[in-house]
Amino acid sequence: MKCALVTGSSRGIGRAIAIQLAKDHGLHILINFSSNVDAANETKRIIEENGGTAELMQFNVEDSSAVAPAMEKWQNDNPDSHVEVLVNNAGITRDNLFPWVTEDDWDSVMNVSVKGMYNCTQAIIKKMLRNRSGRIINIASLSGLKGVPGQTNYSAAKGAMIASTKALSQEIAKRKITVNAVAPGFIASDMTSDLNEDELKRMVPANRFGLPEEVANLVSFLASDKAAYITGEVININGGIYA
Ligand code: NAP
Repeated sequence: MKCALVTGSSRGIGRAIAIQLAKDHGLHILINFSSNVDAANETKRIIEENGGTAELMQFNVEDSSAVAPAMEKWQNDNPDSHVEVLVNNAGITRDNLFPWVTEDDWDSVMNVSVKGMYNCTQAIIKKMLRNRSGRIINIASLSGLKGVPGQTNYSAAKGAMIASTKALSQEIAKRKITVNAVAPGFIASDMTSDLNEDELKRMVPANRFGLPEEVANLVSFLASDKAAYITGEVININGGIYA
């Protein structure tokens, strides 16, 4: 069975991606999350309501001693299945002006996005290389391209994801595996719920925040056969705020 592992798919953009990949490509979804079991179950319920299949896969992406055994166990229990699509979506923010960014705030933002991408990609890449097929999609951010004040840690993490996307894509393009990054601007989710949308939307030419579903449609296209010749790219989805 062809599967998609979507990290951080209990809520927000990850949930929308999980639902869309199941709908558009019939992929069995591995719903990764950190702690929110109820929200993860809700993602599963929506996928099943739409006629798809999914299972919960709880682990902290930044912890290699959790990711590797969980994925190994899943593969052993499901020898006929493989992860065809990996979406490295789990991410957190710990915003502050640089002088007040603690070492812990620096490390945790870097670890969830960058180490998490490393851990999850390591867990699935050898099988993708053997299969000569696969899609890896990294959810970066406008911050990783432009650099956003108050987000030095987050901008560094997302910038690192983008550079790694470009490097890895060149290593494995011959094996028909594409690696791309998606860079959303302001998207309505729990992560942005404390922001003043009415004020901030004035900075956005489209005059609104984006929807998780809009990001999910882009990810679904990148996961499709139609996107086979797109690799090493960073695709902006930001209502025109930065290009
Ligand atoms: P969100 O609503 O805060 O959801 C975060 C998701 O990540 C949740 O499912 C959470 O699981 C999971 N997660 C957090 N830490 C994790 C860990 N260590 N291990 C496994 N899962 C973890 O965030 P979002 O807005 O959907 O953002 C999704 C991605 O898009 C992030 O990478 C974010 O940086 C990026 N992004 C967002 C925006 C935006 O405007 N929203 C813009 C640009 C980029 P639990 O439910 O268990 O906590």
